[in-house]
Amino acid sequence: MSITDNLLHIRSTLPEQVQLVAVSKTKSIDEILEAYKTGQRVFGENKVQELLTKWESLPKDIEWHYIGHLQSNKVKYIAPFIAMIHAVDSIKILNVINEEGRRYGRRIPCLLQFHIAKEESKFGFQTSGVDELFSSVELAALDYILFSGVMGMATYTEDHEVIDFEFSNLHTLFDKLKSTYFSENDNFAEISMGMSHDYLQAIQNGSTMVRIGSTIFGERNISV
Ligand SMILES: *Cc1c(COP(=O)(O)O)cnc(C)c1O
Repeated sequence: MSITDNLLHIRSTLPEQVQLVAVSKTKSIDEILEAYKTGQRVFGENKVQELLTKWESLPKDIEWHYIGHLQSNKVKYIAPFIAMIHAVDSIKILNVINEEGRRYGRRIPCLLQFHIAKEESKFGFQTSGVDELFSSVELAALDYILFSGVMGMATYTEDHEVIDFEFSNLHTLFDKLKSTYFSENDNFAEISMGMSHDYLQAIQNGSTMVRIGSTIFGERNISV
């Protein structure tokens, strides 16, 4: 199957309201161009240097999404053009993104990453800590952050019940945040969840944005 065939197949499985982020990390310019030619415009990357190289070489109407863990000292490189940052996971990084947004005069769309999996992970806010998070930041003062929703990754497992449980938790959390903090904010609308192996389950649990890499481009050589 070619990249084109894979993309056409995946699109045929997506409800209209679900956006596809084609995760192109480790993949070449030519591979991305093949996807581009099918009409794909939204791509996801998780390394800043790799993203910058691709952004420079590829058509400017591509919307780049940053899906990896972002270090504060690298925000400045992507702030001028990034379409969405998916994995915002600390107050520190929120403040840095806000300052870079101010510098470039653009509000940067951000998703708050939550830790929903059973697996140990350094990344993501704890779902139990949201009230603490929002009481410790002056949300209104972060005027260059466009709060756009939430993001999460389920446990890597064959156990569908575990995956359903985790995705439905993220959906519940989104609803709670929406009604408590963002009811006046139409931008707060996205639930980014679902990857190659679990995206259909994510959609059943309310995903609005799936991040799919290997099912489009084939397996990656390096595991990232
Ligand atoms: C790599 C990656 C994906 C895509 O994973 P696939 O299994 O190749 O679809 C999605 N989300 C994040 C955060 C990733 O790092």
